[in-house]
Amino acid sequence: MSGWSFETLAVRAGQERSQFNEHSEALYLTSSFVFENAAQAAARFSGEEEGNVYARFTNPTVTALQDRLAALEDAECCVATASGMAAILSTVMALMKSGEHIVASRSLFGATQQMFGNVLPRFGIETSFVDEGSVDRFRAAMRPSTRLVFIETPSNPLTEVFDIAALAEVAHDAGALLVVDNCFCTPALQRPLALGADLVIHSATKFLDGQGRVLGGAVCGAKVLTEEVFKFLRTAGPCLSPFNAWVILKGLETLSVRMKAQSANALELAQWLETRPEVARVHYPGLVSHSQYELAQRQQSSAGAIVSFEVKGGREAAWRVVDNCRLLSITANLGDTKSTITHPASTTHGRISPEARLASGIGEGLLRIAVGLESPADLQADLLRGMA
Ligand SMILES: *Cc1c(COP(=O)(O)O)cnc(C)c1O
Repeated sequence: MSGWSFETLAVRAGQERSQFNEHSEALYLTSSFVFENAAQAAARFSGEEEGNVYARFTNPTVTALQDRLAALEDAECCVATASGMAAILSTVMALMKSGEHIVASRSLFGATQQMFGNVLPRFGIETSFVDEGSVDRFRAAMRPSTRLVFIETPSNPLTEVFDIAALAEVAHDAGALLVVDNCFCTPALQRPLALGADLVIHSATKFLDGQGRVLGGAVCGAKVLTEEVFKFLRTAGPCLSPFNAWVILKGLETLSVRMKAQSANALELAQWLETRPEVARVHYPGLVSHSQYELAQRQQSSAGAIVSFEVKGGREAAWRVVDNCRLLSITANLGDTKSTITHPASTTHGRISPEARLASGIGEGLLRIAVGLESPADLQADLLRGMA
């Protein structure tokens, strides 16, 4: 495996053939495993002998996915979880305790904001949200009790780009860890660990599966950290189903080509949106007009498939665009080969208070498109219907 390129690893890494020598990855749909005898059962349970025991701990199909994803992120280890949110929760539960503190960017996936802002405080874990991407603001928010710095880059839905290398330094200077939600880029476009991050989080539900079929998540990084996440997972239970692992494994095989093609479509769409008089602003890191264009060029191999834009005329105008779509799916999911459109203020970010939403820059006219594999011309025609 060593020496293989990313494209090859995406197709080949992690597979161990069974006694039947199957060509495609096997799906082990079993919740438990049989032992040769009582002594082996005891040895497996005590950990004296390696091997599968019960699917809440390990399952070979899940292991294959973990090994493939670790190879792609260039991580020592990967632990798969039931969903992206399970990956974030398990990371916090495994590495933090009451009284400790998180520094996070303000613009985060809605449920992550909800978890950090409203759920974790009940367990004595506080989060400081940083409104701007500037490294100094992050540094100023650090406390002696800060354990994690958590960012998404590019962020959802405004595609703000955060400087992974600089923020790794801020975290490490304070004895904290940098955690990067790499959902929007996937390892095909960005490798946070190589830039100094300690852990990478994935919602495999999105681009890793890539066809909108299953929920899944993952945490990648050094074994000393992922081992703690695994210990939490095997006790608490938000682990990935073998069936979902198998679907995501097959999704990874086309990751590289999908990300390239969907990014190219997104760039074309973003450039077109910028020419439209109905559009006040386009957020896409591949546009020279994006305030962190240079950083995105340096940190990512392409700008990704998420484009957001503000239409003039607020919620009414935004909803008109959505309601006139016949091709783009009106759904909050993203990362699919089918393009999707959503109005963040009333959907993904609807549970956040209007003040917090405004602080995050998510206005009533904002729309987010996750660009798929349809032709950009057809997407433009679809959007134009509701703009006129
Ligand atoms: C969807 C998403 C999540 C949560 O993942 P689930 O699989 O839905 O639990 C986390 N972060 C980002 C950036 C996402 O888009």
